[in-house]
This record gives sequence, C-alpha cells and structure tokens, in this order.
Amino acid sequence: MELENFRPQSKLVTKTTLVDKPKFPAIDAHNHLGHFGGNAIEISTLDEVCDEFDKAGITHYVDLDGGWGEDVLQKHLDYLAPRAERFQVFGGVDWAKWAELGDSFPEYAAKRLSVQKSWGAQGLKIWKPFGLHVKDHKKMLVKVDDPRLDPIWQAAGELDLPVLAHVADPVAFFDPIDATNERWEEIGANPDWAFTSPPFPPFIHILNGLRNLVKRHAKTTFIGAHVGCYGENLGWVAKMLDECPNYYIDISARTGELGRQPYTARKFFIQYADRILFGLDGGPDVDGYRLVYRFLETDDEYFNYNTGEIPGQGRWYAYGLYLPDDVLEKIYRRNAEKILFR
Ligand SMILES: [Zn+2]
Repeated sequence: MELENFRPQSKLVTKTTLVDKPKFPAIDAHNHLGHFGGNAIEISTLDEVCDEFDKAGITHYVDLDGGWGEDVLQKHLDYLAPRAERFQVFGGVDWAKWAELGDSFPEYAAKRLSVQKSWGAQGLKIWKPFGLHVKDHKKMLVKVDDPRLDPIWQAAGELDLPVLAHVADPVAFFDPIDATNERWEEIGANPDWAFTSPPFPPFIHILNGLRNLVKRHAKTTFIGAHVGCYGENLGWVAKMLDECPNYYIDISARTGELGRQPYTARKFFIQYADRILFGLDGGPDVDGYRLVYRFLETDDEYFNYNTGEIPGQGRWYAYGLYLPDDVLEKIYRRNAEKILFR
C-alpha cells in the first residue's frame, strides 16, 4: 500500500457535539461571494444565500470580492441590494496599473479608494500577490512595507475603510517541497501554492513587512486574515497585537492550525478576545460554519477540522477550545460591530 492511501480510522471513543447555530448570532468578517464576479453570485439567488445564513445563525457577511473596477463592484452591490443591510463589500487595488502609471500609481490608487467608497465599498481587501508577485513600473518586486505606497494606507484611514490583508501563506508553502514538508499533500494538489524561497522572499520578511506597515499607519484599521497570516506562531501574532492597537485578526480557514495547538490557542483567544473576528472563507457553507462553532464552543477532542474525508491542510486532527461566553460573543459579533458593521 502506498502511504498516501493510508486511511487510519481513530478508535478513540470520544463525544461529537453538533452545534447547529453559534451561541451568539455571528458576523462573518471574511468570506467571498465569487472572485471578482464568479461562482456564488452566479449559481445562487440571494434568497438562497440568506437562507443558508439563517440556518447557520449568520446575521451579516463581508464579501471581499468587490475588486477594483466599477463593473465588478457594482455587480456585487446590485446583487446584494435587496438585503444590503446584511452585507459589506470590500474593494481592491489594481496593481497592474503601476506599470502604466509609473510614479503616480500610489496617488492614483489612493484616490481610487474614495471613488470605490462612493460606489459603496466599505473596506479594502489586499490579497497575497502583494508581497509575492506585485511589481512596480521598473518590474521590481514590491515589498509589503514599501513607503511609496503610504498614500494608499493613509487614505484608507482617512476614509475610514478597514484594510483586510492576506499576505504570504502557510509557512510550509515557503519551504522546499520535500519529504519534510508538512503541506506536501496540499501543495501537490495545488502546485501554484508553492512559494519556495528562494526565488520567493522568505515568509518572515513578508510578515515583518506587514508589521512595519500596520505600525506606521496607526490611524488605519487593519485586519490580518487567517490569524494574522501566521497561525503557526501565535506568539508572533500576539506580539504584533500588543504592538499595534489598530490591528485585528480573523480566524478564517485556520481551524486546523489553531485546533492542533488547543492549549496555546485557548489562552490566545481569551487574552485577545477584543481583537479577533469570526470568518469562514470558502463561501456561505452551513456545514463549514457548524464545524467552526464546534471548534470554538465545545471540548470535543480529535476531530476532522474539514468537511471532507481527509483534512485539507494536513493529516492531523483538531481539539475544541470550549471558550467562555463573553469571549464567544466578542468573537462572533461584538468586535465586528466595533470595526465593520457600526
Ligand atoms: Zn479569503
């Protein structure tokens, strides 16, 4: 038998707690309705999407896929208009314009934020090509803390648009893809997720860039996606939260990472309860939501953190955090009410 066909079935006799709805109605601060116009908004009616939310106890939802052009943003806003009070749409930065606009690009991108806000965008989403692929007009890779881009982050603060930043990716994606790589299977299934350094910048350089950026723009609210882009190292994320009062994190798509370090994660959630936002990523998925509720609320042990048969981020299992009610309420909704749905 090949090792990859190994399907060990745990013989542990432990409890399974099904949590249909969150203890407090939740706000999903990190999700998608289709990348720049695709999937969910084309396959589902808005009523169907909202029915899923009602089943899963989700009251509000941040759709990060507004993009940078009026067409895409407007498409999302038009689709959501009948239930607009339940949604926010975030815009983006059109990095490709840098080649065309040269030195005037940062000012252009900053002005573009106010235009996006006038169309209806309520935040700015920065995605991982920034730090990995984005190049300036001289075809040089741009660092996350490049001071030339300060006008963008400053404008976001002035316009009161929170910036949700997903930079880098799981640490192991930056390592050589060999027998020691804990994400070997996942990278095999998604070869374009390999950012082995070199030639890519080291993971920690990208994260340090994010930290410098957030520190330098103390009047701008930043949300670090996926546990501040470094769920493998909660000590590092905690330090950044300590240093940057304008910084929040979301927990989307990191149940596997958090659930394999339950003692540290539980302490982290309790200590930083005011800075953590709930989010799922991966669409309005009732079963996906319920699994995260189980993780946050129960003391269930050793369970699959994915809805698929084989846990997608690595073949380990998760442990619940059985968080106290006051912490759950902040994470599920109070923090999002403070910085998003005000
Ligand atoms: Zn996402």
